[in-house]
Amino acid sequence: MCGIIGYVGKKNSLHVLINGLKRLEYRGYDSAGVAFINKNNIEIIKEKGKVAELEKKIDFTKESNIGISHTRWATHGAANEINAHPHSCEKITLVHNGIIENYEILKKELKQKGYTFYSETDSEVVAVLLNDLYKENDIIESIIKMKKILKGSYALAILCSDYPNQIYTIRKDSPLIIAKDSEGSYVASDVPAFLEYTNKYSILAEEEIAILTKDNIEVINNKKEKITKETITFEGDINSSQKDGYDHFMLKEIFEEKDVIKRIMKDYNTFDKLIEKMKFLDKYKKFDIIACGSAYHVGVVAKYLIEEFANIPVNAEIASEYRYKNNFLDKESLAIFISQSGETADSIASLRKVKAEGIDTLGIVNVVGSSIARESDNVIYTKAGPEIAVATTKAFVAQLTIVTLMSLYLGYKNKNIKKDKVTEILKELDIIENNIDKLLKYDYKEIAKLLYKHEKIFFIGRGYDYAIALEGSLKLKEISYIHSEAYAAGELKHGTISLIEENTPVICLLTDENIIDKTISNIKEVKARGAYTIGVSNEEHEFLNNNIIIPKTKRIITPLLEVIPLQLISYEVAKLRDCDIDKPRNLAKSVTVE
Ligand code: GLU
Repeated sequence: MCGIIGYVGKKNSLHVLINGLKRLEYRGYDSAGVAFINKNNIEIIKEKGKVAELEKKIDFTKESNIGISHTRWATHGAANEINAHPHSCEKITLVHNGIIENYEILKKELKQKGYTFYSETDSEVVAVLLNDLYKENDIIESIIKMKKILKGSYALAILCSDYPNQIYTIRKDSPLIIAKDSEGSYVASDVPAFLEYTNKYSILAEEEIAILTKDNIEVINNKKEKITKETITFEGDINSSQKDGYDHFMLKEIFEEKDVIKRIMKDYNTFDKLIEKMKFLDKYKKFDIIACGSAYHVGVVAKYLIEEFANIPVNAEIASEYRYKNNFLDKESLAIFISQSGETADSIASLRKVKAEGIDTLGIVNVVGSSIARESDNVIYTKAGPEIAVATTKAFVAQLTIVTLMSLYLGYKNKNIKKDKVTEILKELDIIENNIDKLLKYDYKEIAKLLYKHEKIFFIGRGYDYAIALEGSLKLKEISYIHSEAYAAGELKHGTISLIEENTPVICLLTDENIIDKTISNIKEVKARGAYTIGVSNEEHEFLNNNIIIPKTKRIITPLLEVIPLQLISYEVAKLRDCDIDKPRNLAKSVTVE
């Protein structure tokens, strides 16, 4: 959500900024802009829509070695050129990611002081406030004062016209990293923004201010004391942010899923490794799994698996609800937070809430060093590599692999799964690529042709099939804009079955053999009302209009395979509908606002 890249150094800043913005496009945005200093003048160029449109407006022959830039995901005010960042007031120009919660009162006070505002954004208020605090005094002092006044979340990159060789940057509850190479200094929301120049970076902490010049990055705290930063090396390479011949990042990332599972399994592929890695779970008698979107669906799968195999109660909860409600945890509970970015605002807030109550926490995250990774008592990295498509696929599969391994371990501990069986399941997971290859070969375009003109599509299933139905339906909605509902198969007749008409597509998940007969009865109910049924199961069922066969494997592993056809069907449907698959409208990759 929102991308920031700022640069000061020997290179032409306009090239660095526009390239950086393009690499941050995956985060989701609706307008973009740059501010750069040319012959001591700050110039601002903004545009609604894509970075490519902004690029057309820029004269790259202009000399500039310092600038800041932004892709905006509108929260306050329409997505238009005026509201796009950078925002400026007299000597201050800045870009902002996040939400200023007290902006209305600040705006009122600043208006009383005589300031006028041109945009509807909360971010412009920050520029005006800082300008007001600054008034030719110490800029650092003014930033420290501003931090005490602002409420909400922010990552800010700031230019001050009195110091045309410096960028100032601060953050609270929004990600920001800094990096330095022989050609200059960078500040950005994420590593891909500067990865073609350096893979070494540092994470700015909440209480710090970084001052970037072409030769140096100085980091200080609120008392102006110098801080030495730890340098992190980014493990991925620039190719992970390229499409490698695939039409879309989403497709590339689905094809990477088997490698992701393989990478995870290196740490867990024997009984001893699994025990060693998971034994920290022994002391817990209850789990709350807190997450948003697809990560929440991983939590729902985990609930089914852990409750069945380990006989331990699990609550899977949506973070935006969890953070404001009463939760019933004690010293024997573990709160688990699942997030691709590790920066999901509602999940971070929930994490802080339970930590304050003294509850143990575990983060399952993809981005190394992210807020959830740092603030959780324990972290398991999902090792999916950078995920660029906004709709998650490989990060989902990575999270699912981790919770499957947790369920397996807990099932063993509860004496429901014997040691031999654990080893057998681990072996099967280790060679899951054979089964995934079979699924990748299927012609999903043919299925998509049956679906893409419809306005509503249902997904049904029971048990973990239901949990995967939730994810299949979300994927379809996200990228194809077809309305879809996922229902527990037995629940449909309590209302929603009224929406089934002649030829309404219903995707029926029925791999869970423990309950397959019941699911079949529910499928027959929708068929009797005219539904066109597509099955996702381990065998051909004649009563279905169409069958997608999932290779037979151990039950506990099946959800990992079952989700792949659903991802590919969504992809093909969105393609037939000519949608912007990697950057669906209104969506952002890392949801850093609540
Ligand atoms: N709240 C700000 C705005 O609406 C920043 C949004 C963002 O993070 O992109 O302009």
